[in-house]
Amino acid sequence: MKKIEARNIHKSFQELNVLQGIDLDVEEGEVIAVIGPSGSGKSTLLRCLNKLETINRGTIIIDGELLADTSSTGEVVYAPGDESRRIACKMGMVFQQFNLFPHMTVLQNLIEAPVQVQKRDRAQVIEEAKILLGKVGLSEKADVYPRKLSGGQQQRVAIARALAMKPSIMLFDEPTSSLDPELTGEVLRTMRELAEEKMTMVVVTHEMGFAREVATKVIFMADGRVQEQGRPEDIFTNPKNERLQAFLQTVL
Ligand code: ADP
Ligand code: MG
Repeated sequence: MKKIEARNIHKSFQELNVLQGIDLDVEEGEVIAVIGPSGSGKSTLLRCLNKLETINRGTIIIDGELLADTSSTGEVVYAPGDESRRIACKMGMVFQQFNLFPHMTVLQNLIEAPVQVQKRDRAQVIEEAKILLGKVGLSEKADVYPRKLSGGQQQRVAIARALAMKPSIMLFDEPTSSLDPELTGEVLRTMRELAEEKMTMVVVTHEMGFAREVATKVIFMADGRVQEQGRPEDIFTNPKNERLQAFLQTVL
């Protein structure tokens, strides 16, 4: 089953046309790596998918549910407010900056949204949050404040926090880009484990090793368009698009 179906996505900021007709299909259990030069619209694409930005044209279907569509007159219509929020919440998001709540402990960070927003049973949520902390290797840190953690640990908390919402899809926007090199491995390992559990993931990344080894499909974006996409082995060993060839020269 398709988890994400995005058709002809256009997004501009004033006169700047950032996304110029993006199509994206993500099947259940797929790991999509989105690569491309800075400014090519990768973050904007993720933000459009989970409605942090609204699109100017196109169609977005998440888990079979219509989030946004374009009418015959060219007007973009979103699902009604509550519906939109519910659909967007199917996607957990992890950012480059971890954005943990600094005044809350690790455990409080995990349970806040499930209890306050999803109105789930607090005891049950705490139980599940502890299991998630175990999964990301941070059981010992439940009662610690984020500032006491390394960047890699904070990012693993951010991943656990997103998972605590029971998302159907995980979106990652350069999750290791603000980490010291020696801390990227532990975060990539956590993401790899998620992939092995068949979590559906869209990962914007500069980590070509991760893209090559973990992704089921790689998408190369430049100038707001998908220039080439394919299996990692094809993208990395036999790139056809000239821009992709040049990009790989700079990052490999
Ligand atoms: P990437 O993630 O590939 O580096 P972005 O999606 O962040 O690219 O940005 C693509 C382009 O859109 C850039 O030129 C950026 O400056 C611009 N942009 C992104 N967000 C905004 C915004 N909120 N307002 C105006 N311009 C923006
Ligand atoms: Mg970006």
